[in-house]
Amino acid sequence: MTVITRTEPEKVTRLREGVAARGLKHFVGGEWVDALGGETFETLSPIDGSVIARVARGDAADVDRAARAAKEAFPAWRDLKGTERKKILHRVADLIEARADEIAHLETLDTGQAIRFMKSAAARGAENFRFFADRAPEARDGLTLPTEGFLNYTTRTPIGPVGVITPWNTPFMLSTWKIAPALAAGCTVVHKPAEWSPVTATLLAEIMHEAGVPAGVVNLVHGYGETAGRALTEHPDIHAIAFVGETTTGSHIMRQGADTLKRVHFELGGKNPVVVFADADLEKALDAVVFMIYSLNGERCTSSSRLLVEDAIYDEFTARVAERARSIRVGDPFDPATEVGPLVHPRHTQKVASYFDLARQEGATVAAGGEVIEGNFVTPTLFTGARGDMRVSQEEIFGPVLTAIPFTGDAEALSLANGVRYGLAAYLWTNDLTRAHTFAGGLEAGMVWVNSENVRHLPTPFGGVKNSGIGRDGGDWSFDFYMETKNVAISLGTHKTARLGVGQAQPAKDAADRKLAE
Ligand code: NAD
Repeated sequence: MTVITRTEPEKVTRLREGVAARGLKHFVGGEWVDALGGETFETLSPIDGSVIARVARGDAADVDRAARAAKEAFPAWRDLKGTERKKILHRVADLIEARADEIAHLETLDTGQAIRFMKSAAARGAENFRFFADRAPEARDGLTLPTEGFLNYTTRTPIGPVGVITPWNTPFMLSTWKIAPALAAGCTVVHKPAEWSPVTATLLAEIMHEAGVPAGVVNLVHGYGETAGRALTEHPDIHAIAFVGETTTGSHIMRQGADTLKRVHFELGGKNPVVVFADADLEKALDAVVFMIYSLNGERCTSSSRLLVEDAIYDEFTARVAERARSIRVGDPFDPATEVGPLVHPRHTQKVASYFDLARQEGATVAAGGEVIEGNFVTPTLFTGARGDMRVSQEEIFGPVLTAIPFTGDAEALSLANGVRYGLAAYLWTNDLTRAHTFAGGLEAGMVWVNSENVRHLPTPFGGVKNSGIGRDGGDWSFDFYMETKNVAISLGTHKTARLGVGQAQPAKDAADRKLAE
């Protein structure tokens, strides 16, 4: 059995000492504060289970304090010139870049993600801020919609204080993806990060404060979903909830937000297909298939976790995926050569590992991996010979686990691709132009990549259909969520208003009315 050797770099030891000494507090109204009830919980490193820090455990009272701070700060932030918000948000990006190495190392410590991926995730956090900073001055712009006798124009105004609830996977990057557009739009924010990976949310709050985001504009409350998260979704001063997480949690949030009619934006689970036709560039397809399931430990919403391969090439293609999976370097996530690190938490490892036995029970073959090495380290896994209706083909496993299913012809491929409750991303490999267009059109997914892995372009819409989400992020779509649109209709003075109350009285009716009144 492979034994994982761990060598925490000295700089990480120093960084974690700093985090442990300070503890992770809430950040409310520009101040670092303990939970009002004084409660804390521990955040553990998935690498060895060691305690990283004690974290303030927020509840409804802490959320209320943060929501009130966000409400108070809202008018001034809303009214600040877009060009000023732009400058501040660019400073946030500068500071993220300056501290990218620290962010990446603490993210690896807290989530187990390999350092090679966390460095680019930190850089992407800065890019998110720059992208929305540049759009802040135009966020309020609307449309001109002239019609006969009228000029209509629309304007947008920020919706108010919003709640941002983020998951444990790539938490820093995902938090910036939600918070940057909210701030650019002119909203104030209460952020509730995931309880399994709260460390870098603290860094982000620190950076935003240092960059000049005014007190109360961004507030951070740590805590569990069922208490702090729930209170945020129910708070009357919070106008919208941007949520990234599991599909079932999305349903809870919708129910919890019903009484206060919350606007919601959901980025939820996925079981994304990658469809490989025999006519594709199979070398490139192989690289992309392996990358999109085993990078980021497979703990990635857009991972392609179902491999659908045309029957003529199924055996050979899956044999090559299995060979690659067996050669992936699992190990110490601080080692720059490591490709797969430990999964985020023992509970998640247990969940992922439960699918190893399930696959065998369902009649699939474990062609690679299928083992827990030790602790939270699992082997990159491939199930072959699966059918579309098996649980390993239907459920989001959210680990380095790929299920391969053969298909015959376009119709079967499409029916398998669409035959799950999710619809976030889909990947298609073919060199047949007509098939590419037709198939992409038929895929039930919010995002389709043809002959490519997930390559993001920030102005394009990001989001899912079916059980994978509601709403889109990216470009102007983010502003649509964080802002209200108002239409102003101005008459050019030429239209005729129907005139009531200017006709002759009707005697017969008047007489009848008088009689009734008597
Ligand atoms: P999760 O739903 O368990 O938790 C996400 C967040 O919601 C956490 O902060 C948690 O504390 C909070 N939460 C839990 N219950 C709550 C409640 N009742 N009310 C309010 N908040 C509550 O998800 P997770 O396990 O942290 O993350 C993994 C999931 O996220 C996967 O399903 C993955 O696909 C999904 N995800 C989706 C996208 C996307 O863009 N579609 C991106 C990343 C992750």
